[in-house]
Amino acid sequence: MFAQVIVDIAHSQVDKIFEYSCSGDLAVGSRVKVPFGKTSIDGFVIGISETSEYPPEKVKPIISVFDELPALIPECFSLMERISSRFRVPKAAALRLFLPTEMRRGTVREVYRTIAKINDISVSIPKNAQKQRLALDFLKDKREYDFTALCNTFGRGAVNALVEKGAFTTEKIRKVRNPFTDLQKEEKEKVLTPAQSAAIASIENSAKKVQLIHGVTGSGKTEIYLTLIADQIAKGKTAIFLVPEISLTPQMLAQLRARFKGEAAILHSGLSAGEKFDEWWRLRSGEAKIAIGARSAIFAPLENLGVIIMDEEHDSSYVSESAPRYSTTEIAKMRAEYNGCKLVLGSATPSVESYIEATEGRYNLITLPDRINKKPLPEIIIADMRREVKRGNNSAFSLALREELKQTLASGNQAIIFLNRRGYSQKIICRDCGYVAKCKNCDVSLTYHSEENCLKCHYCGTKYRMVTECPECGGKHIRYGGTGTQRVVAELKELFPKAEILRMDNDTVSGKDGHYKILSRFARREADILVGTQMIAKGHDFPSVTLVGILDADMSLQFSDYRSGERTFQLITQVSGRSGRAGEAGKVVLQTYCPENYILRYAVNYDYTGFFAHEINLRKATLFPPYSLICRVMVTSEDEEKALAALKAVWLAIENLKTEQEDEFIFLNRMHSPVKKIQGKHRYQVLMRLKSGKLLQKIYAISVQNSSNDCLVYVEENPANLS
Ligand code: ADP
Ligand code: ZN
Repeated sequence: MFAQVIVDIAHSQVDKIFEYSCSGDLAVGSRVKVPFGKTSIDGFVIGISETSEYPPEKVKPIISVFDELPALIPECFSLMERISSRFRVPKAAALRLFLPTEMRRGTVREVYRTIAKINDISVSIPKNAQKQRLALDFLKDKREYDFTALCNTFGRGAVNALVEKGAFTTEKIRKVRNPFTDLQKEEKEKVLTPAQSAAIASIENSAKKVQLIHGVTGSGKTEIYLTLIADQIAKGKTAIFLVPEISLTPQMLAQLRARFKGEAAILHSGLSAGEKFDEWWRLRSGEAKIAIGARSAIFAPLENLGVIIMDEEHDSSYVSESAPRYSTTEIAKMRAEYNGCKLVLGSATPSVESYIEATEGRYNLITLPDRINKKPLPEIIIADMRREVKRGNNSAFSLALREELKQTLASGNQAIIFLNRRGYSQKIICRDCGYVAKCKNCDVSLTYHSEENCLKCHYCGTKYRMVTECPECGGKHIRYGGTGTQRVVAELKELFPKAEILRMDNDTVSGKDGHYKILSRFARREADILVGTQMIAKGHDFPSVTLVGILDADMSLQFSDYRSGERTFQLITQVSGRSGRAGEAGKVVLQTYCPENYILRYAVNYDYTGFFAHEINLRKATLFPPYSLICRVMVTSEDEEKALAALKAVWLAIENLKTEQEDEFIFLNRMHSPVKKIQGKHRYQVLMRLKSGKLLQKIYAISVQNSSNDCLVYVEENPANLS
């Protein structure tokens, strides 16, 4: 027999299929080790045939097979083809998406343990063998027990003697490192509200492939997802449940564990390599039927999918930032199509791109305008910070927010303070000459971190010594502008010395479950105020939070990105949604320097449809997505000349396309990227706005042709970030 193998090198030069001889029982999808040139390499079997086109002396045998069960399910091969041609990546690169790194490198192995089982209780035991007797009695009672634990208790000699006599048998079983078992707590059964039942009925009866749930924060979307999943499991099917990484909070995990026990596998970046490996195999082997995780969980090895759910579908983390630069929604649609199942998208603030699909009838729209038990959405109070400055208030807090904080603390409730930035302050500026401290690798300004008393680059992590004197002019008037979480905490401590304050940002969150720890402490009410950045915006359900302060609501409006309005609306809605979810009514204080902005007006009234109508008209008039496609070809290299040469070649090829199809182009230009250098790599780009996706495949081909090992060229579609 012969096996067609894709080797695990994601490089276009070896993007072909190799053939090896194999035994008759090798299965398609198996992970194998094969000879390759002078060495050996891992590969995946994508086909088996009885004959080979190659002369027999050229075909080498497979060295070894890794797993009993083929790692790849049949669906992988169909998806591999689609992804590889859609994003112009080698087939091996597409296949890799289906296997966690731990699987590919072969570094993590399954862990086994031995158990002893009772076999024959009638064996004779010498009178003086007290330990053997005790061990036999013990196992007679337990039926089976961990072998090592038995030896530790009764002595290895006694246990081995019993095995030899045939009193005990031993057996190796796979040991599963089961994460988050401590979260397993019982949960009360919920009776679905009429709105939830209607939503489920609408989804089940709809003939449309994609379902969009637009439900305000706290409308009970999670319960709808869990019911949809449970219904499919009951039918013998499987399910994928995607959430943004940040939403995998302890509460969410506890809820899922309580509901689905071992049937749910959690694929989470915070897991250890061994845990990831085990969770992945539990899905592959059919022991677990529900895959829960962030973006990459869309590639979970589940057959017979009954439903795919994407919570917070608008979240930008659903777009991959490394090759292949796929959108999770697109892959989810492919899988839903293959399995003939539904894709359910949910959000309190759907992306403009998804919502228009619903208003134009391609998606089934389900609207949940009310919170569970008709709890009102929190009142949003606008604090005009320009007026505060005029009054002489230079602190981070408006009078309104201070007053509300005072009342919240007095009533024994909790508050969340949200801000858009991290670090104690932003740029370091010399007030004499205007010098700004920048990273030498990345061409971005450095940020001061008071805890370590140093400057840090947020792009590459390089640390620099703090400057007290301007390196340009020698001036001593160095200023740290802006507000950061540290300064906010310091001010809060002064205002409310008795309050317990927790801070959560990229600097305080580290390690495997850094942010779970902080959030759990807040959930246990060990603190009164939680101060944080984007990480605290979504997904959390803290019943005692009745106040949310948004310190710089309009920060994200300053960016010159066509999505900045949409992002601001989403952010305000999501953060506000943390307030008043249970008992008392909630409040939000929104601090801004531009209170008249239309986005804030819609956000204050929770008017999503008003916002959408305004936004979609704007996009239509200015020809921005979804009425066009923004396409950026990035050229990056440590060698600036190489980058410029590749840029020129790409540019000429795209200009040629334009002469052929002038009317497809709304905009075309080449330039330095806004951030000129990251981690020592120069960055240039060809930026275009296209009427449709018609030319995309040609543009991908151009970028692949001009990409090399020392000069990377790649395509981004509607990039979330244009830096
Ligand atoms: P969303 O995901 O829409 O923001 P959640 O699913 O977090 O909303 O639900 C908000 C709150 O309502 C949660 O505390 C949840 O436990 C509760 N809840 C949801 N459905 C029900 C129900 N049918 N009965 C009682 N409480 C519910
Ligand atoms: Zn840097």
